[in-house]
Parts: sequence; C-alpha cells; structure tokens
Amino acid sequence: MNIILLGPPGAGKGTQAGRLQAERGMVQLSTGDMLRAAVKSGSPAGLKAKAVMEAGELVSDDIVSALIDEKLGTMAADQGAIFDGYPRTAPQAASLDQILTAHGRTLDHVIELEVDEDALVERIVGRYSCASCGTNYHDVFNRPKADGVCDVCGSTEFKRRADDNAETVRTRMAEYRAKTAPILPIYDARKLVHRIDGMADIEHVSDAIEAILEPRA
Ligand code: ADP
Ligand code: ADP
Ligand code: ZN
Repeated sequence: MNIILLGPPGAGKGTQAGRLQAERGMVQLSTGDMLRAAVKSGSPAGLKAKAVMEAGELVSDDIVSALIDEKLGTMAADQGAIFDGYPRTAPQAASLDQILTAHGRTLDHVIELEVDEDALVERIVGRYSCASCGTNYHDVFNRPKADGVCDVCGSTEFKRRADDNAETVRTRMAEYRAKTAPILPIYDARKLVHRIDGMADIEHVSDAIEAILEPRA
C-alpha cells in the first residue's frame, strides 16, 4: 500500500506516519527528515537545502524527488510507503507518479488532514522530539508519560527544530497555500482523496486513518 499524508505544517502528518510505521510495518518517507539528515551530514543536497529550510521556503523539486526515489529503491516491494511532506508541488506530484511506476507501485490513498491554521502555530512552537530515537512530542498536547523521559527509548535528551518558530511558520503556511494545496485537485480527479478532521485528538485522527486503510462495512 502507498499513501500520501497531506496537510500544512503542524497538521500531524509526522505523528500519524510514525504511528502507522509502528503499527503496520509501513515505512515513513519524510522528505523533511531526509533533508535534515542531509543538512547534518553536510552532503551537497544538504548544503543547498539548509538556508532554504531555515527561511521556511521549499527546497528544489529535483533534490526531494531524488531522495524519495533513492529511499524507495532500498525498500522491499511488499513494504508499504507513507509519503509524509511529499509531494509539495505539482512537479513533485508528477515525479512521484513516475517514481512509483518505476518501482512497480501504485498510489492507493491521499489523506488530507484538515486543520485550522490558527491552531498550527501553537502546535509548531510546542513541538519537540527525542534526540535519540526521534519520537515526536508536544509541550501541551503530547507529553511523555514521565516528564523529561522518552516513552520509547528512555532518553532524557530532546531537541527542537530551528525552523519551528512563529515567523518561519508564516512563510511555511504561505508556501503550503500557494504551492501544495493546488495539487489536491489532481488527486481529487483520480478519486484518491479522503479528508479527515486533523483538529481531533491524536487517537481520533489515527482511528479515522485506520478506517480509510481498512474500511469497515
Ligand atoms: P507535521 O508533520 O504535519 O508538521 P507533527 O506530526 O509534527 O506535524 O505535529 C506537530 C505537533 O503537534 C507535534 O508536536 C505533535 O505532537 C502535535 N500534534 C500532532 N497531532 C496532533 C493532534 N491531533 N492534536 C494535538 N496535537 C497534535
Ligand atoms: P512540516 O511538516 O512541519 O512543514 P517538514 O519536516 O515536512 O515540515 O519540512 C521542513 C522543511 O523542509 C520545509 O519547510 C521545506 O523547506 C523542506 N521540505 C520538506 N519536504 C519538502 C518537499 N517535498 N519539497 C520541498 N521542500 C521540502
Ligand atoms: Zn526516544
């Protein structure tokens, strides 16, 4: 199964992709995570991407599509893929079609998390993750069970993203509205889009996604 999670920054794509990965053995393909790893490693793609990401703008289509193609090449044919934060532009959507075909895959669902933009700033400024295993948390909405200790790996080190600040978020929202939202009609025309309420709590959003992946009579 191959699915796309779509929604503006802070909509909950990474959180839900992580849960699907843990519960269904699907693989999360987050271009944001791949780009942050490239920046950290100092690779050519990372060097190009760093300033663009810090400004909240979009990295070039060629760079992100190459990352996705490369990652799919490492996966077994029967491993499901969750595209998280990709595609983000019409050219990326076209590239994804070609890349999927090349890897013998077809797109099953596009799940749009519908959210209220005003709430997203609060979600993003409160976001942090485990420095060791990457599990996502939030200061208010998604705290670890024991304060300051990662639920998954027990680490006590956490980190916040450089671009998760109120100013950059506005640019990222504007990029979403201008370049990403316009790709939805492409998938609508193919009857692939499911819209779910991303303002519900994390468990309810997961349930809504499960209902799409495993339709109940
Ligand atoms: P995205 O990947 O779409 O940018 P994240 O999954 O990283 O979004 O979520 C942004 C922040 O909001 C995280 O700190 C996460 O813990 C929190 N969060 C995710 N889903 C919800 C939800 N349904 N309700 C409240 N907070 C949420
Ligand atoms: P969020 O879901 O919170 O918007 P991501 O982790 O998906 O954040 O992306 C962080 C940044 O990485 C984006 O603001 C952008 O600069 C870059 N990026 C990630 N994915 C893409 C993509 N598909 N196309 C272009 N730029 C991307
Ligand atoms: Zn951890």
